[in-house]
Amino acid sequence: MTTFFSRVLIIFVLFTSLLLQGQTVYTVEDVPNPKNSDGGWISDPNNYISGEEKIALNSLISALENKSTAQIAIVVLPSIGDEVPKNFAVHLFKHWGIGQEKKDNGLLILTVVDQRRTEFEVGYGLEPILTDALSYRIASQELVPHFKNSDYGLGLLAGVERIQQILDNPEVISEIYDDGGVGYTKNKNPISVGVIIYLGLLFFALFHYFSNVRKINKNKEDFYDKFKDLYNIKHFVYFILFPLPFLLIRYIFIKNRLSKYRNNSRFSKINGKKMFKKTEVAENKFLDKGQLVEENLHSVDYDVWATENADDILILKYQKFFSKYSKCPKCKYKTYYTAHSKTVKAATRSSTGVREEIQKCKNCDYIKVNTIKIPRTTSSSSSFGGGSSGGGSSFGGGSSGGGGAGVSW
Ligand SMILES: [Zn+2]
Repeated sequence: MTTFFSRVLIIFVLFTSLLLQGQTVYTVEDVPNPKNSDGGWISDPNNYISGEEKIALNSLISALENKSTAQIAIVVLPSIGDEVPKNFAVHLFKHWGIGQEKKDNGLLILTVVDQRRTEFEVGYGLEPILTDALSYRIASQELVPHFKNSDYGLGLLAGVERIQQILDNPEVISEIYDDGGVGYTKNKNPISVGVIIYLGLLFFALFHYFSNVRKINKNKEDFYDKFKDLYNIKHFVYFILFPLPFLLIRYIFIKNRLSKYRNNSRFSKINGKKMFKKTEVAENKFLDKGQLVEENLHSVDYDVWATENADDILILKYQKFFSKYSKCPKCKYKTYYTAHSKTVKAATRSSTGVREEIQKCKNCDYIKVNTIKIPRTTSSSSSFGGGSSGGGSSFGGGSSGGGGAGVSW
């Protein structure tokens, strides 16, 4: 009999403890909405906050709402089970719709006692004032010291008072930033200043670039001269500073204009007759051997323009920007290249090495052999490394999804 009773007792105890535990674990839907019952701002179903503290908190928050229309909801729960407090706060915030609808200026301070965690969930309208960093500081400076002693009401009062000071008087914000703590919000400014400086420089570069383009178009009479000058604008300076904008400009605007300069109909300067551009095949008979070799090597492209009866012939030379060929010292065509490069003797730490280089011309068969000294190798102590990889400067409580911050205590 005794074993039967003890078994029943054990089952009873287990059952009730499960039941009790079940009651203390809250879901978003379970949390009593204070607006539905007493009209205050606090949901504290397990009475972690004393009655007096509740009255004080409610009157503080009501005064704040009257003045700034911002709404603060305070929720203290024994447990939300395995749920992540931040997610819970996001859902509860949405579920209740804290803050004025159009201003979105609500703040939810959710405390989960068994996880020892408090979340500040800030509506978008309040975020510019109550930044993540500021939320974190208020939580860790005002709430945490009291929460550690289980004085939840005192901590929340201190926190709400600090928030009231901030919302009442925006100047307090700068004061708070200047007391030399986290220094997070200050980092935001240099970014926007950087963006403004960048945009300013970009604007200046664009202006400078296009005034050059305009000057070329206006001052140069001949399309060929216009082409050469436009082609030779030192694009790389702009590219280094502003790669994307100038790549776009180069490949849309400038490319277009270059092709226009190159293909626009032209007239003979000798007799004023209209000239026609020869096709790639037809132009060959006007080019000499060296020019044909250049065309085949794609180091230079030629356009041949001629009047109808060929009494004026114009051979226009277009250099390719990227080519492995350079000007031959002998025949002067752009047909000279490095045919062979070989290390004859490798450099060591104690002696120099030798490299043999053979340069040839594809037009005149000129050949030059160079022997080049390779400097001694130095011990490679100057590797990269050394730079600190940053890291550690971040602090807990960044926003995930909505704005706000959380602290553990
Ligand atoms: Zn040559």
